[in-house]
Amino acid sequence: MTYRIKSDIHTHTLFSRHAYSTIAENVAAARAAGLELLGSADHLSCMLFPEQHLRNFQYFINQTVWPREWDGVTLLRAAEVDIVSLEGGLFGQDIACPANITGRPFKLEKSLFERVTANLDYLVASVHDARFTEDASGAQTTGMYIRVLEQPKVLVLGHTGRSGVPFDIDEVLTVAKERHKLIEINEHSLEGDRRGTTTDACRRIAEWCAELGVGITVSSDAHVACDIGRYPNVSAMLEEIQFPPELIMNRSRNALLDALYAAGVADLRSLKRDEQPVESNPCVALASDADATGSLAAAAQRINAARDETATGTNQS
Ligand SMILES: [Zn+2]
Ligand SMILES: [Zn+2]
Repeated sequence: MTYRIKSDIHTHTLFSRHAYSTIAENVAAARAAGLELLGSADHLSCMLFPEQHLRNFQYFINQTVWPREWDGVTLLRAAEVDIVSLEGGLFGQDIACPANITGRPFKLEKSLFERVTANLDYLVASVHDARFTEDASGAQTTGMYIRVLEQPKVLVLGHTGRSGVPFDIDEVLTVAKERHKLIEINEHSLEGDRRGTTTDACRRIAEWCAELGVGITVSSDAHVACDIGRYPNVSAMLEEIQFPPELIMNRSRNALLDALYAAGVADLRSLKRDEQPVESNPCVALASDADATGSLAAAAQRINAARDETATGTNQS
Protein backbone atom coordinates (compact mmCIF):
# COMPACT_ATOMS: atom_id res chain seq x y z
CA MET A 1 0.00 0.00 0.00
CA THR A 2 1.40 3.40 -0.95
CA TYR A 3 -0.07 6.20 1.11
CA ARG A 4 -1.17 9.37 -0.61
CA ILE A 5 -0.72 12.13 1.94
CA LYS A 6 -1.53 15.51 0.50
CA SER A 7 -1.14 17.83 3.44
CA ASP A 8 1.54 18.59 5.99
CA ILE A 9 0.36 20.42 9.11
CA HIS A 10 3.48 20.55 11.26
CA THR A 11 6.20 22.61 9.57
CA HIS A 12 8.54 25.38 10.70
CA THR A 13 9.81 28.66 9.25
CA LEU A 14 12.76 30.90 10.07
CA PHE A 15 10.78 32.21 13.02
CA SER A 16 11.61 29.04 14.97
CA ARG A 17 15.30 30.12 14.96
CA HIS A 18 16.66 26.62 14.28
CA ALA A 19 14.69 26.41 11.02
CA TYR A 20 15.81 27.83 7.72
CA SER A 21 13.02 28.71 5.29
CA THR A 22 10.48 31.45 4.84
CA ILE A 23 6.75 30.87 4.60
CA ALA A 24 6.92 31.65 0.87
CA GLU A 25 9.65 29.03 0.39
CA ASN A 26 7.60 26.50 2.36
CA VAL A 27 4.48 27.16 0.28
CA ALA A 28 6.50 26.75 -2.93
CA ALA A 29 7.95 23.49 -1.60
CA ALA A 30 4.47 22.27 -0.66
CA ARG A 31 3.24 22.99 -4.15
CA ALA A 32 6.26 21.26 -5.71
CA ALA A 33 5.60 18.23 -3.49
CA GLY A 34 2.02 18.04 -4.76
CA LEU A 35 0.42 19.04 -1.46
CA GLU A 36 -3.07 20.52 -1.29
CA LEU A 37 -2.67 22.03 2.16
CA LEU A 38 0.16 23.31 4.32
CA GLY A 39 0.00 24.11 8.03
CA SER A 40 2.73 26.35 9.40
CA ALA A 41 3.34 25.57 13.07
CA ASP A 42 6.31 27.43 14.48
CA HIS A 43 7.47 27.01 18.05
CA LEU A 44 5.49 28.81 20.72
CA SER A 45 7.99 28.16 23.45
CA CYS A 46 10.48 29.65 25.90
CA MET A 47 13.28 28.14 23.82
CA LEU A 48 13.11 31.01 21.33
CA PHE A 49 13.80 34.13 23.41
CA PRO A 50 15.00 34.98 26.91
CA GLU A 51 12.05 37.37 27.40
CA GLN A 52 8.52 36.11 27.02
CA HIS A 53 6.41 39.02 25.83
CA LEU A 54 4.16 39.82 22.88
CA ARG A 55 6.83 41.65 20.91
CA ASN A 56 8.78 38.43 20.56
CA PHE A 57 5.75 36.49 19.34
CA GLN A 58 4.09 39.08 17.07
CA TYR A 59 4.93 36.82 14.13
CA PHE A 60 1.83 34.79 15.06
CA ILE A 61 -0.66 37.60 15.53
CA ASN A 62 -0.40 39.03 12.03
CA GLN A 63 -0.73 35.77 10.09
CA THR A 64 -4.13 36.96 8.91
CA VAL A 65 -2.18 38.69 6.11
CA TRP A 66 -1.31 35.27 4.71
CA PRO A 67 -3.61 34.34 1.85
CA ARG A 68 -5.76 31.29 2.54
CA GLU A 69 -4.94 30.01 -0.93
CA TRP A 70 -1.35 30.67 -1.94
CA ASP A 71 -0.07 29.38 -5.23
CA GLY A 72 -2.71 26.65 -5.24
CA VAL A 73 -1.95 25.53 -1.68
CA THR A 74 -4.41 26.01 1.18
CA LEU A 75 -2.49 27.63 4.02
CA LEU A 76 -3.35 27.18 7.70
CA ARG A 77 -2.02 29.22 10.63
CA ALA A 78 -0.83 27.28 13.62
CA ALA A 79 1.79 26.91 16.32
CA GLU A 80 3.61 24.03 17.97
CA VAL A 81 3.11 24.99 21.58
CA ASP A 82 5.10 23.57 24.47
CA ILE A 83 3.37 21.55 27.15
CA VAL A 84 4.88 22.99 30.32
CA SER A 85 3.16 21.46 33.35
CA LEU A 86 1.67 18.23 34.66
CA GLU A 87 -1.67 20.07 34.81
CA GLY A 88 -1.59 20.20 31.00
CA GLY A 89 -0.62 23.86 30.91
CA LEU A 90 0.66 25.30 27.65
CA PHE A 91 3.40 27.86 27.18
CA GLY A 92 2.17 31.39 27.79
CA GLN A 93 -0.98 30.49 29.69
CA ASP A 94 0.59 31.59 32.97
CA ILE A 95 2.37 34.62 31.49
CA ALA A 96 0.72 38.02 31.74
CA CYS A 97 0.52 40.16 28.63
CA PRO A 98 -0.11 43.71 29.82
CA ALA A 99 0.88 45.63 26.68
CA ASN A 100 0.63 45.43 22.91
CA ILE A 101 3.64 45.41 20.56
CA THR A 102 4.02 49.18 20.76
CA GLY A 103 4.00 49.09 24.56
CA ARG A 104 0.49 50.50 24.92
CA PRO A 105 -1.35 48.81 27.83
CA PHE A 106 -4.25 46.47 27.01
CA LYS A 107 -7.58 47.29 28.62
CA LEU A 108 -8.55 43.63 28.92
CA GLU A 109 -6.43 41.23 30.91
CA LYS A 110 -5.43 38.22 28.83
CA SER A 111 -2.51 35.84 28.93
CA LEU A 112 0.34 35.81 26.44
CA PHE A 113 -1.07 32.51 25.15
CA GLU A 114 -4.50 34.04 24.52
CA ARG A 115 -3.06 37.03 22.67
CA VAL A 116 -0.66 35.00 20.55
CA THR A 117 -3.03 32.20 19.56
CA ALA A 118 -6.16 34.30 18.96
CA ASN A 119 -5.76 34.27 15.17
CA LEU A 120 -4.44 30.72 14.82
CA ASP A 121 -6.44 27.83 13.38
CA TYR A 122 -5.07 25.04 15.58
CA LEU A 123 -2.24 23.99 17.86
CA VAL A 124 0.10 21.05 17.90
CA ALA A 125 1.04 20.49 21.55
CA SER A 126 4.39 18.86 22.32
CA VAL A 127 6.79 18.27 25.19
CA HIS A 128 10.30 19.53 24.35
CA ASP A 129 11.79 19.82 27.80
CA ALA A 130 10.60 16.87 29.86
CA ARG A 131 12.37 17.84 33.10
CA PHE A 132 9.11 18.82 34.76
CA THR A 133 7.88 15.23 34.31
CA GLU A 134 10.94 13.53 35.81
CA ASP A 135 9.40 12.70 39.18
CA ALA A 136 5.88 12.26 37.89
CA SER A 137 3.87 9.05 38.06
CA GLY A 138 2.33 7.43 35.01
CA ALA A 139 -1.06 8.60 36.20
CA GLN A 140 0.19 12.19 36.28
CA THR A 141 1.73 12.16 32.80
CA THR A 142 -1.34 10.41 31.41
CA GLY A 143 -3.52 13.07 33.03
CA MET A 144 -1.27 15.74 31.56
CA TYR A 145 -1.78 14.54 27.98
CA ILE A 146 -5.54 14.14 28.58
CA ARG A 147 -5.88 17.70 29.87
CA VAL A 148 -3.90 18.96 26.89
CA LEU A 149 -6.35 17.17 24.58
CA GLU A 150 -9.16 18.97 26.37
CA GLN A 151 -7.74 22.39 25.49
CA PRO A 152 -10.00 23.91 22.81
CA LYS A 153 -7.33 24.94 20.28
CA VAL A 154 -5.28 21.76 20.49
CA LEU A 155 -5.86 19.53 17.47
CA VAL A 156 -2.80 17.28 17.69
CA LEU A 157 -0.51 15.79 20.33
CA GLY A 158 2.93 16.21 18.78
CA HIS A 159 5.64 13.51 18.64
CA THR A 160 4.60 11.64 21.82
CA GLY A 161 6.85 8.77 20.70
CA ARG A 162 10.03 10.82 21.06
CA SER A 163 9.33 13.24 23.90
CA GLY A 164 10.55 10.76 26.51
CA VAL A 165 7.44 11.01 28.68
CA PRO A 166 5.92 7.60 29.44
CA PHE A 167 2.11 7.55 29.57
CA ASP A 168 -0.82 5.16 29.40
CA ILE A 169 -1.35 4.95 25.65
CA ASP A 170 -4.76 3.32 25.93
CA GLU A 171 -6.17 6.02 28.22
CA VAL A 172 -4.83 8.94 26.22
CA LEU A 173 -5.90 7.49 22.89
CA THR A 174 -9.38 6.74 24.20
CA VAL A 175 -9.82 10.43 25.10
CA ALA A 176 -8.37 11.46 21.73
CA LYS A 177 -10.97 9.31 20.00
CA GLU A 178 -13.85 10.68 22.10
CA ARG A 179 -12.83 14.24 21.34
CA HIS A 180 -11.85 13.61 17.70
CA LYS A 181 -8.37 14.87 18.45
CA LEU A 182 -5.34 13.53 16.60
CA ILE A 183 -2.08 11.80 17.43
CA GLU A 184 0.96 12.76 15.40
CA ILE A 185 3.34 10.29 13.81
CA ASN A 186 6.34 12.48 13.09
CA GLU A 187 8.88 11.90 10.31
CA HIS A 188 11.52 14.02 12.02
CA SER A 189 11.38 11.65 15.02
CA LEU A 190 12.40 8.66 12.91
CA GLU A 191 15.32 10.27 11.10
CA GLY A 192 18.67 9.11 12.38
CA ASP A 193 17.06 6.86 15.01
CA ARG A 194 19.95 4.37 14.93
CA ARG A 195 18.91 2.43 18.01
CA GLY A 196 15.35 2.21 16.79
CA THR A 197 13.85 2.97 20.19
CA THR A 198 11.91 6.01 19.00
CA THR A 199 10.74 4.13 15.92
CA ASP A 200 9.51 1.28 18.15
CA ALA A 201 7.64 3.72 20.38
CA CYS A 202 6.05 5.45 17.37
CA ARG A 203 5.10 2.10 15.81
CA ARG A 204 3.45 1.01 19.05
CA ILE A 205 1.43 4.23 19.21
CA ALA A 206 0.43 3.91 15.55
CA GLU A 207 -0.64 0.28 16.04
CA TRP A 208 -2.75 1.31 19.01
CA CYS A 209 -4.36 4.11 16.99
CA ALA A 210 -5.24 1.58 14.30
CA GLU A 211 -6.68 -0.78 16.91
CA LEU A 212 -8.84 1.87 18.58
CA GLY A 213 -9.71 3.80 15.41
CA VAL A 214 -7.96 7.01 16.47
CA GLY A 215 -7.09 9.54 13.76
CA ILE A 216 -3.44 10.40 13.19
CA THR A 217 -1.54 13.08 11.38
CA VAL A 218 1.60 12.20 9.47
CA SER A 219 3.86 15.23 9.77
CA SER A 220 7.25 16.09 8.35
CA ASP A 221 8.03 18.55 11.17
CA ALA A 222 10.14 20.13 8.42
CA HIS A 223 12.71 22.68 9.55
CA VAL A 224 13.77 23.38 5.97
CA ALA A 225 11.61 23.73 2.88
CA CYS A 226 12.96 20.69 1.05
CA ASP A 227 11.59 18.41 3.80
CA ILE A 228 7.99 19.60 3.39
CA GLY A 229 5.64 16.74 2.53
CA ARG A 230 8.32 14.05 2.81
CA TYR A 231 7.45 11.08 4.98
CA PRO A 232 9.58 8.12 3.79
CA ASN A 233 10.28 6.64 7.23
CA VAL A 234 6.75 7.04 8.56
CA SER A 235 5.23 5.74 5.33
CA ALA A 236 7.46 2.66 5.42
CA MET A 237 6.48 2.05 9.05
CA LEU A 238 2.77 2.52 8.39
CA GLU A 239 3.02 0.15 5.44
CA GLU A 240 4.65 -2.46 7.62
CA ILE A 241 1.76 -2.40 10.06
CA GLN A 242 -0.87 -2.01 7.34
CA PHE A 243 -2.17 1.19 8.92
CA PRO A 244 -5.71 2.05 7.72
CA PRO A 245 -5.38 5.00 5.30
CA GLU A 246 -8.76 6.41 6.31
CA LEU A 247 -7.33 7.18 9.78
CA ILE A 248 -4.64 9.43 8.29
CA MET A 249 -6.55 12.66 8.73
CA ASN A 250 -4.12 14.80 6.73
CA ARG A 251 -4.40 12.51 3.70
CA SER A 252 -6.18 15.32 1.84
CA ARG A 253 -7.20 18.96 2.28
CA ASN A 254 -10.84 18.02 2.73
CA ALA A 255 -10.15 15.26 5.25
CA LEU A 256 -8.01 17.62 7.33
CA LEU A 257 -10.58 20.42 7.25
CA ASP A 258 -13.28 17.94 8.30
CA ALA A 259 -11.04 16.74 11.15
CA LEU A 260 -10.52 20.31 12.35
CA TYR A 261 -14.28 20.76 12.44
CA ALA A 262 -14.99 17.40 14.07
CA ALA A 263 -12.55 18.23 16.87
CA GLY A 264 -14.37 21.52 17.48
CA VAL A 265 -11.12 23.41 16.88
CA ALA A 266 -12.00 25.45 13.78
CA ASP A 267 -14.67 25.55 11.11
CA LEU A 268 -12.78 26.12 7.87
CA ARG A 269 -14.98 23.91 5.73
CA SER A 270 -15.46 26.79 3.29
CA LEU A 271 -11.88 26.05 2.16
CA LYS A 272 -12.85 22.56 0.98
CA ARG A 273 -12.48 21.85 -2.73
CA ASP A 274 -13.72 19.16 -5.04
CA GLU A 275 -11.44 16.15 -4.74
CA GLN A 276 -9.26 15.57 -7.78
CA PRO A 277 -9.24 12.10 -9.29
CA VAL A 278 -6.40 10.10 -7.77
CA GLU A 279 -4.79 9.37 -11.15
CA SER A 280 -4.33 13.03 -12.00
CA ASN A 281 -3.07 14.02 -8.60
CA PRO A 282 -0.01 11.96 -7.80
CA CYS A 283 1.28 11.76 -4.29
CA VAL A 284 4.12 13.72 -2.74
CA ALA A 285 7.83 13.25 -3.28
CA LEU A 286 8.01 10.02 -1.34
CA ALA A 287 6.19 8.25 -4.15
CA SER A 288 8.96 9.05 -6.61
CA ASP A 289 11.57 7.97 -4.07
CA ALA A 290 9.76 4.69 -3.78
CA ASP A 291 9.56 4.29 -7.54
CA ALA A 292 13.27 4.90 -7.93
CA THR A 293 14.33 2.25 -5.47
CA GLY A 294 11.52 -0.22 -5.51
CA SER A 295 10.38 0.32 -1.95
CA LEU A 296 9.67 3.04 0.56
CA ALA A 297 11.86 1.38 3.16
CA ALA A 298 14.81 1.56 0.76
CA ALA A 299 14.04 5.21 0.05
CA ALA A 300 13.99 5.95 3.77
CA GLN A 301 17.32 4.19 4.26
CA ARG A 302 18.88 6.16 1.42
CA ILE A 303 17.67 9.50 2.78
CA ASN A 304 18.84 8.67 6.30
CA ALA A 305 22.26 7.62 5.04
CA ALA A 306 22.63 10.92 3.18
CA ARG A 307 21.69 12.80 6.33
CA ASP A 308 24.16 10.83 8.46
CA GLU A 309 26.98 11.67 6.09
CA THR A 310 26.46 15.38 6.43
CA ALA A 311 24.98 15.75 9.90
CA THR A 312 27.01 17.39 12.61
CA GLY A 313 24.11 17.26 15.05
CA THR A 314 20.45 16.51 14.91
CA ASN A 315 17.89 18.98 16.08
CA GLN A 316 14.98 17.07 17.52
CA SER A 317 12.59 19.90 18.19
ZN1 LIG B 1 8.19 20.85 15.27
ZN1 LIG C 1 8.56 19.45 18.39
